[in-house]
Amino acid sequence: MTISKNDLIRILSKDILNWSCFLRDTHIKSSEPIPTQEQLILAHYFEPTILKRTKIKFVDSIDIPVLNESIKDVVEERYFNLQEAAGIAFWNCILIIPDNIKKKTSFTSLLFHELVHVLQYNLLGMEKYVQLYISDWLNNGFKYEHIALECIAHKLTQRFEQGQVFSVKQSLMEEVDLKKIW
Ligand SMILES: [Zn+2]
Repeated sequence: MTISKNDLIRILSKDILNWSCFLRDTHIKSSEPIPTQEQLILAHYFEPTILKRTKIKFVDSIDIPVLNESIKDVVEERYFNLQEAAGIAFWNCILIIPDNIKKKTSFTSLLFHELVHVLQYNLLGMEKYVQLYISDWLNNGFKYEHIALECIAHKLTQRFEQGQVFSVKQSLMEEVDLKKIW
């Protein structure tokens, strides 16, 4: 059975949304605030409400999503590549896998990157965020580096690492690609 691209995006987005909500709800209860030291640095980039509302949790690994039977032939489990992820944001809950943090990446940089996603969720809404993420992923051969939301997060993290000080919210609002989306 062949499945149309639109159906694939719709079904996969639903699966990912369920998975995201499940993980967020499971972990938020036992998560902790962003450490004060990091909050002080990140306060130059993010509004206080975002920093206060976002919680972090250290985990050993993240299970891949359960997929609808109708798309299992098209979306292979190996595409998810979660074994290498150091962090992943689900709404206001950031899961961190300490073993996967690369030596050259600082914890604050990782938090910065994930907080950009938290803000993207906030501006777009969870459903729209997941839809955009998934449609870019599917349309670009399951490559994370071509997902617009990731490209923007990487670009802003690079600016942070270069020592620039800026409002992430302002920068996101100025993104030409995202203006079409908002
Ligand atoms: Zn990311």
